[in-house]
Amino acid sequence: MPNSTPPVSSSKLQLRSLEAVWHPCTQMKQHEIFPLVPIVSGKGVWLYDSEGKKYLDAISSWWVNLFGHTNPYINAAICDQLEKIEHVMLAGFTHEPVVLLSERLKKIAPGNLGHCFYASDGASAIEIALKMSFHYWQLSGQSQKNNFVSLQNDYHGETLGALSVTDVAIFRETYAPLLRQCTHVPTPDWRYADKGESPEDYAIRAAAVLENHLKKNHTQTAALILEPLVQGATGMGMYHPAYLQRAKEICTRYQVHLIADEIAVGFGRTGTMFACNQANITPDFLCLSKGLSGGYLPLSVVMTTDEIFQAFYDDKTVRAFLHSHSHTGNALACRAALATLDIFEQNDVLDSNKIKTSYLNNIAAPLSIHPKVRNFRNCGMIWAFEVETNDPDFSAKCFQAGLQQQLLLRPLGKTVYFMPPYIISEQEMSWLVDGTLHALDTL
Ligand SMILES: *Cc1c(COP(=O)(O)O)cnc(C)c1O
Repeated sequence: MPNSTPPVSSSKLQLRSLEAVWHPCTQMKQHEIFPLVPIVSGKGVWLYDSEGKKYLDAISSWWVNLFGHTNPYINAAICDQLEKIEHVMLAGFTHEPVVLLSERLKKIAPGNLGHCFYASDGASAIEIALKMSFHYWQLSGQSQKNNFVSLQNDYHGETLGALSVTDVAIFRETYAPLLRQCTHVPTPDWRYADKGESPEDYAIRAAAVLENHLKKNHTQTAALILEPLVQGATGMGMYHPAYLQRAKEICTRYQVHLIADEIAVGFGRTGTMFACNQANITPDFLCLSKGLSGGYLPLSVVMTTDEIFQAFYDDKTVRAFLHSHSHTGNALACRAALATLDIFEQNDVLDSNKIKTSYLNNIAAPLSIHPKVRNFRNCGMIWAFEVETNDPDFSAKCFQAGLQQQLLLRPLGKTVYFMPPYIISEQEMSWLVDGTLHALDTL
């Protein structure tokens, strides 16, 4: 094995990381108190640190991993691809993995989303969908359609365009002067429903506000962008599919594109292959990333319709979609994605996940009635609940308490959630629930 330097001890690695690596979404000074966890290997749902201690990855390493760490099947596919071609630019060139992947995505995606535009991460996919939507209206002689609407509590990533349509105060406020105006209509999240109002009734009431907004503003609105069924980053808010049905009807009526951001919920997370399936709708743009490559390599894609594609198809270069990223359609990442889709096909993953979902719901009964727990909820392979606490550092303390129980939990504020890899076993699910109960009791 080529290795330029000898292995570094774990305590040295922690210190050297703090010196040289600026960690994401982190106040670096907090690591004066909380040490970094150096991970040396992974297998299935488990991550192993340099002292051999293992942690159950209950959040799939920021929601990306579907079939476990160092999955033998995906590993083999990537190794095979490494021997052929690791990467080639996708302008003027093409390769088998990107063609096969596009054809397979086309088959499984809802409706007629026949054209795949690739990028490397989720936020870039959002930038692409926003630019394509705006550009489409420009090409169609409606250049006044240049505003976007999103949902209250939506998260779409942290580059400037994606942040403009995101509604998370802590990420937005500092950069507000750099961001475009965007309207956030009320969230359909059922936690906001009136007492006695069903999730479905509340979703329909929220959709009426959207309708009212678009009725007045559709001539200036390019697209509605939303996270279908589960609003992840703001705390796993869940809502009824009736909202998606209505939103699609309203967008069609007022000639506004619908952008479905399934970066987190695509590939089975909500119980169906795509969350849009549960409302039986086809968006104009479908954004996918995270689980797309099984969580192995950075890869994202925006899928869209013939109608949008044709508007750009012309003799003039300026009518083209002139957007690219260096690693667009990376061959290794596409091979990892193909292997991931193989696993879905060969193992009836969606059906076996249904059994896992009901198993975990059963064993989690003590959690759902725990005196500190509020709003215990589930959608497919996502579980979440709020913890009753006044501690502003709850999230960091719960993360530490989780590690003590050999669990990787990373609460979003007071919301604790599980989003485990799909290969989690019954025994591992028990470990997860028992460890979480113990962690709550130590807090
Ligand atoms: C994670 C996420 C993104 C951003 O993806 P990155 O790869 O982190 O840029 C966008 N939208 C949703 C819904 C996400 O969960």
